[in-house]
Amino acid sequence: MRCLRCGACCTETEMLLSSEDIERLERKGYPREFFVLFDREGYAKLRNQHGHCVFFDVEARRCKIYESRPLGCRLYPVIYDEEKGIVVDEICRAQGKFSAKLLERKGRKVLKLLERIDAEAEGRRNTRQSLSK
Ligand code: SF4
Repeated sequence: MRCLRCGACCTETEMLLSSEDIERLERKGYPREFFVLFDREGYAKLRNQHGHCVFFDVEARRCKIYESRPLGCRLYPVIYDEEKGIVVDEICRAQGKFSAKLLERKGRKVLKLLERIDAEAEGRRNTRQSLSK
């Protein structure tokens, strides 16, 4: 699938991050406070700045960290929808060019990634609870 550089997926992003994503980007020199937002449930998400992901270059309409981007961004436009399960995000303008085979392959990876991210969020909640006792 060829990205059309519309920037829709990098606008007001809610992309979840795994610890591996965070560590990889820290090794690239980005402090976690710059790009990570932890929600109340312990999930790590990409930060937005002026309505876009902090890594989105608005002028060039491209990702500044493309080679090191989070796994969720690599697997996009395949996402997990609470009601429908694995789907191609309908906001992606290139979605029509997506094969069923690729959807299945990426879908498996999305589920695996979400399992890991859920476990990491649970770990953060547990740590918080034990620190507040
Ligand atoms: S990391 Fe890159 S691909 Fe992912 S949302 Fe941000 S700008 Fe878009």
